[in-house]
Amino acid sequence: MSDTPSPAKPLRIGMLGGTFDPVHNGHLRSAMEVREVLGLDTLHMVPAPQPPLRDMPQVSAAQRLALLTAGIGDTPGLLADDRELHRKGPSYSVDTLAELRQQYGEKVPLVMVIGFDAFLRLAQWDRAEQLFELAHLVVIARPGYQSPWPCSLKELVGDRAVDSVATMMQHARGSLLMLELPSLMTISATYIRQRLSDGKSVRYLVPEAVEQAIFHQGLYQSSE
Ligand code: ATP
Repeated sequence: MSDTPSPAKPLRIGMLGGTFDPVHNGHLRSAMEVREVLGLDTLHMVPAPQPPLRDMPQVSAAQRLALLTAGIGDTPGLLADDRELHRKGPSYSVDTLAELRQQYGEKVPLVMVIGFDAFLRLAQWDRAEQLFELAHLVVIARPGYQSPWPCSLKELVGDRAVDSVATMMQHARGSLLMLELPSLMTISATYIRQRLSDGKSVRYLVPEAVEQAIFHQGLYQSSE
């Protein structure tokens, strides 16, 4: 046996931002599968206290983070990351990626993961042109979303598209990969909120711990 230690496998890090209002199995199953497909060590799941392009959620950022933490439980490689809760003002992904870049260093492949619905609005994001300077972008298919890309998005992406994980991971940032994960799920947080406000069950749509926390705290339930 050689006594030369084998070189440590280089790190790969991911970030999945969202409102998580509340977290559901569509988020969590996609997070697990994207981590597996990309070979990520850690996927940071980052709730936005104040998402810039949508109405302010009714449930506080701290409560949404607590639900996310409960939903992740002991799932290896998924991390409920509270860093945006410590920042003032709107939650911009470019700032979060810059922090992660600083934390992990310049050489580590860093991947921002977003669903296709969010991707369609990417060109409207704050400092969108800087995203590819900080990270790769992986877009996961979402059932029900198939619109053509707006011109501004085509311009933003340019010729960054690659067709394999291996090609993407040769560099630390700068590529776009479109992915169809094995388990496509139609679940959305809007659907969960609607069912809860109608007094209907959300069992098997969210993890059991999330369902219990929602009921214990009386979240999303209509007051009438
Ligand atoms: P809402 O219905 O309130 O808009 P949402 O279910 O889309 O919420 P977000 O917190 O906005 O959830 O989503 C965070 C990220 O997760 C986004 O990039 C979104 O595209 C992605 N995502 C949400 N649900 C799914 C799903 N079922 N499958 C794949 N990706 C998803």
